[in-house]
Amino acid sequence: MLSEPRRRPARTSTPWQATMSQQEDRVSCDGQSVGALEEVLSAALEAYIGVDAEGRVVGWNRAAFETFGYTQDQACGQPVMELIVPARLRAAHRARITRVSGDAGQVERQRLQLVVAHRDGHEFPIEATLTSTDGPDGRRFHVFAHDVTVTVRAQRFAAIEAAVSRGLADASSSKQAAERVVQSLAAGMGWPIVEMWLVDDARQVLVCAARSTTRDVRDFCQPELEYGVGLPGAVQASGRPRWIPDLAADATSLRSRLATRYGLRVAVGVPINSGSVTLGALAVYGEHVEDPEDSLTALLAGVAAHTGQYLERRRAEELAIELARTKDEFLAMVTHELRNPLSIITSTAALFDDELDDLSNEQQRQYLHIITRSAERLTVMTGDLLDLARLETGHLGIDPSAIDLAEVIGQAVHAAGTAAASKHLKLTADLDSTMCLYADADRLRQVADNLLSNAIKYTPAGGTVTVTAHLDGDDRIRWTVADTGIGIPAADRPRLFRRFYRASTALQHRIPGTGLGLVVTRAIIERHHGSISVADHDGPGTTFVITLPVKPPA
Ligand code: ADP
Repeated sequence: MLSEPRRRPARTSTPWQATMSQQEDRVSCDGQSVGALEEVLSAALEAYIGVDAEGRVVGWNRAAFETFGYTQDQACGQPVMELIVPARLRAAHRARITRVSGDAGQVERQRLQLVVAHRDGHEFPIEATLTSTDGPDGRRFHVFAHDVTVTVRAQRFAAIEAAVSRGLADASSSKQAAERVVQSLAAGMGWPIVEMWLVDDARQVLVCAARSTTRDVRDFCQPELEYGVGLPGAVQASGRPRWIPDLAADATSLRSRLATRYGLRVAVGVPINSGSVTLGALAVYGEHVEDPEDSLTALLAGVAAHTGQYLERRRAEELAIELARTKDEFLAMVTHELRNPLSIITSTAALFDDELDDLSNEQQRQYLHIITRSAERLTVMTGDLLDLARLETGHLGIDPSAIDLAEVIGQAVHAAGTAAASKHLKLTADLDSTMCLYADADRLRQVADNLLSNAIKYTPAGGTVTVTAHLDGDDRIRWTVADTGIGIPAADRPRLFRRFYRASTALQHRIPGTGLGLVVTRAIIERHHGSISVADHDGPGTTFVITLPVKPPA
């Protein structure tokens, strides 16, 4: 049951008048007019219920009708407990009232919060004051009550937000933070399933960082989801909240149908954002949701915003720690990488100078070629370092225009031909004749050059490098660069796109490199709203797969 927010009928509403006008807003069930007092009670905004010593309704004003849904005729004479208290709560309510009424059964201005039921069956909290008087007809109890659904909800939501803030404040890891958020929501709202999903950048999947379940829902508990799959995937991909009022009718998702097997009926998902980046999603599943859609979504969005800020801070801290740790390593590596081509240039130039008179034209060309290659290596390295610095300060710009990707890739393949041939590698390209898209041609050429030079660098002589790029459906391009080289072990792949990370195979083969190119490559692809990943490989070699939208999202 997904209950609509219930509104009181307006004071002028017809149901009351239709049923009560002939009684002229009388309050006492016996119809005896008591003048001014009667008038006051019928005009009161508080529901008034008069109850006799037997517990039967003997007074019922207009506000009582509006609050509980029964007209006076329907209410009068009924046992009040049966009329407005849900069966499962009657014993507890009776005990409470007996407690406050003392031995003499006399109640002295008691204020109580109780859960009651409307005529239509929905339950809601009221705040009631209870007093009693003794008159000629015996003891009479007077209940003045009002619906406190909104106040109670606000208190419950505030308590959840406070629990989330406390949980995040001293969490020692992102995992612990996720668990605390999920527990606070599950405890505060009583939802059977609460999940927090976070993006795993390196593997391009959503990982369930924390989950709370109150029942055995084993099949439902996948540890990972592809982007776009299920409620968390859809919310993460769109960056927008999603409300599924009837999981059984959600034909788009297998996971929704699975949820119905466990008696779940409704679900809500909200994205976890940090700035413009979606870091994951919060998803809750329930049998019914009592709260209105907008206030519930607002609560979850608030919690998700808190979590997003926390994760952002945490990532920055982790990055700072990682950078500090790798600083020395990095300095040693960069110095080594810079020194290598520089010493080749200086020593070759010195030799050239010494032997100039004795060198044949061919030998001179070879010397110059060595110098040019080393200078090119330096240029690429300094370019990558500059791009990395821009990336860190958020200034890696993209200048898009209408371009033909086939032309960009074709030129890069052509330029790589000499390097491939000198290593005796077979370089082939299979490209659509034209692939128009709105993108930065220079930056995509940089991507093509980097992937090709890696493929050539990490493939021993005699191997093959294959480039393909095709329109995949109407709206995206699939571009691959595959080689038959030393490969990247599965264990290294998740860390491949981190700064300075080098796979164990590259280190074992002592192939020079800085671990910077792929970081910049991925940043460029993501700035074009695309993605890059390493395909799972059975045989030797490596395949990088890029997907690019033909039209970037508006
Ligand atoms: P670099 O090649 O300068 O080290 P990159 O960022 O381009 O830096 O690549 C990071 C790491 O990824 C490399 O050090 C290497 O371990 C691995 N790698 C990249 N491309 C390939 C490939 N085609 N074959 C095998 N390993 C690769």
